[in-house]
Amino acid sequence: MKNLRTIVDRFGVSFIERFGQFLNPLILEFKNENKQLLVFYFHGIFESFKQKDLNHIDPQNNMTIEEFDDFIDYFQNHNYKFILPEDLNSGLGNGQPYAMITFDDGYFNNMLAVHVLNKYKVPAVIFISTRNITENKSYWWDIIYKYRTQQRVNIEKIRSEQKYLKKFKHARIDDYILKSFGKKAFDPWSDIDRPFNKEEIKNLANNPHISIGNHTHNHAILVNYEKDEIKRELSASNKIIFELTNSIPTSIAFPNGNYNQLVLEATEEEGIQYAFTTEPGKNLFPIENKELMCLNRYMADTRKINKSGSFYRLGYTPNTLYDELIMRASILTKK
Ligand SMILES: [Zn+2]
Repeated sequence: MKNLRTIVDRFGVSFIERFGQFLNPLILEFKNENKQLLVFYFHGIFESFKQKDLNHIDPQNNMTIEEFDDFIDYFQNHNYKFILPEDLNSGLGNGQPYAMITFDDGYFNNMLAVHVLNKYKVPAVIFISTRNITENKSYWWDIIYKYRTQQRVNIEKIRSEQKYLKKFKHARIDDYILKSFGKKAFDPWSDIDRPFNKEEIKNLANNPHISIGNHTHNHAILVNYEKDEIKRELSASNKIIFELTNSIPTSIAFPNGNYNQLVLEATEEEGIQYAFTTEPGKNLFPIENKELMCLNRYMADTRKINKSGSFYRLGYTPNTLYDELIMRASILTKK
């Protein structure tokens, strides 16, 4: 059985990807997808690859508008219906598979996607960090990326600096930015990296395809905070969203995907109904009807949807499938 492990190890994720593209559609022919909801999260959207090269924003998880358009097209062609979290209350039928689009952070560049959503009449949730919106404050990971790239720091170092900062509360991160780059660093550079402003959020709230969700006030990675601080982060954000949109958000996306029992308790106590994680996987109906519903989300792959779409529909990403095969192979090896 050692051989199985060796084979999986040797071929790796890229093999799984190529093999899956051929095999997955055959499996899906026999699979009923009607009892599932696939939720995806996006960050920034680029107009073109040229815009990506300007380095006005950390490009890590961002895709072009053309790729976003293809993404919607792919799922509509496979009979998926796009819904909002609110729709889960109204008892969805089992007659077709469902998908949900979410955007994290609140980048103005998401307007590019809004035009596409309008075109397809497809809804989406935009999770905003309200302090960035009200103060026109650049997102800290972009600041690190922009300034370090200018200083010609290599990408591994940039990633490890960003990772290091995720251990801290927002005040400490702000302090670090201030000391490293000065006050001006908080100013966005262009429409590529800036957050939405208040007027724009007000307008978006009038769009029937858009729902505004909570992403905390300070993009707080909530596992770094005490319970009362967590509640303050959530309620401050809820309050501003209510002022701008006239409705209290029903959903939250945990910044950086991090949560624990304390975070869940605080979220429920703040009256939020839907919590979106970053655990990749499908959600199966009937979704357990609790006070607070936790939903898995896939980070939308920034490459062509044809590469990953069939994996999502089966409940995997190429990486999670690879990990599972490795795990199974090592169990078999032990036997
Ligand atoms: Zn975020």
